[in-house]
Amino acid sequence: MKTDVVVVGAGPAGCAAAHDLALQGIRVRLLDRVEFPRKKVCAGGLTVKARRALPYSAEPVVQRTVSSLAVSCRMRRQRFFTGKDPICHMVDRSAFDFFCLQKTVAAGAVFKIVNRIESIVETRGIVTMNTDFGPIRCRYLIGADGVHSRVRLLTGRFKAIRFGFGIEGIVKDLPDNDPGMGFDFDKVCGGYGWVFPKKDHINVGLYTQRWPARIRRQDLADYASRRLGGAPPEQVSGYRLGMGGWRYWPGRGRVLLAGDAAGLVDPLLGEGLYHAIVSGRKAARAVTDAMDTGCDACRSYGFALAPIQRELLFARFAAAVFYRLPDMGYSLLTSPAARIPLMGGFARGMTLLDLVLNGVRFWIGRI
Ligand SMILES: Cc1cc2nc3c(=O)[nH]c(=O)nc-3n(C[C@H](O)[C@H](O)[C@H](O)COP(=O)(O)OP(=O)(O)OC[C@H]3O[C@@H](n4cnc5c(N)ncnc54)[C@H](O)[C@@H]3O)c2cc1C
Repeated sequence: MKTDVVVVGAGPAGCAAAHDLALQGIRVRLLDRVEFPRKKVCAGGLTVKARRALPYSAEPVVQRTVSSLAVSCRMRRQRFFTGKDPICHMVDRSAFDFFCLQKTVAAGAVFKIVNRIESIVETRGIVTMNTDFGPIRCRYLIGADGVHSRVRLLTGRFKAIRFGFGIEGIVKDLPDNDPGMGFDFDKVCGGYGWVFPKKDHINVGLYTQRWPARIRRQDLADYASRRLGGAPPEQVSGYRLGMGGWRYWPGRGRVLLAGDAAGLVDPLLGEGLYHAIVSGRKAARAVTDAMDTGCDACRSYGFALAPIQRELLFARFAAAVFYRLPDMGYSLLTSPAARIPLMGGFARGMTLLDLVLNGVRFWIGRI
């Protein structure tokens, strides 16, 4: 079987890439190892910038939009950040990913289940993937198969990524008072606890940027009971997050990595959807340009991803300081000088680095 591009992994990164390629009239096969809809371990917080990065409206799958946030440090000194505009959209990842896949197939991508990829070989401008249903040949391969990427492993030309960890569950027994969206920083070492309200349940979880992670199910049950009361969370699952992408060149030969496979999760908050969507789209753009002009797709993808890598490097630095000195970091975060621009910036879809650079420019302008 021969096609122009194969995208492995039909999560947000893979769908974003396959969608854009298909719209350009490029023959693209999107492979995943499971049928959709499928469960994905995720809190389902789609930030404003992530929603804007999508090539279509996510309106049909947004369950709730929030414009305020409760934060605490170790569940003490709780502060409320209230804004006029939305800062985050709540989705159910199973429904969101299925919706993205449907949009991608409607754009012209061919979706196929692959149980196992045995090997990946690149020779004379052709990438051959040997799979359980036979070989697939393509001109470019995009690995968007998540944190445990088999494409990254089998290609053998990428460094190992770093890991973070998150555990989440759902609480169906809604408390009388709507808890709203909340982060409890330093609830676990190097991370936080979260409460994300959806339409008919609350997603509750714990995140750490440290690996190996020392979070147990009981820690989540204790957190949920302190934060929400009532019954313990159901459907509890944990999963790794792919990090460290600020240090890697995300393409080799004719193979490009996107999303968690490329380690593109923000270590400060564990946000990965935005980077998955943006990197998927940038990978598609690099491949389209290479097919049109003969330029080197990996090289142009590497340069196109540099701003994202800078943002992630900054987030890495911010996380190192914030989680090492959480009390000081929390005081800074909740000071009016930070709180107001943060809420405004997030509502405008800005990244943390944009916000800080804007702040610096503002103060320099006043001097
Ligand atoms: C507990 C938790 C909570 C999170 N909460 C948030 C949040 O609220 N907001 C946010 O922005 N980010 C969040 N993240 C991060 C976010 O989930 C990821 O960054 C995002 O899913 C990455 O998208 P992706 O497309 O790169 O990979 P994935 O979403 O992991 O998709 C990869 C796809 O590849 C498929 N696949 C894997 N291996 C193979 C294979 N060998 N062959 C074929 N297919 C394969 C998988 O089935 C899957 O469909 C959270 C992560 C965790 C663990």
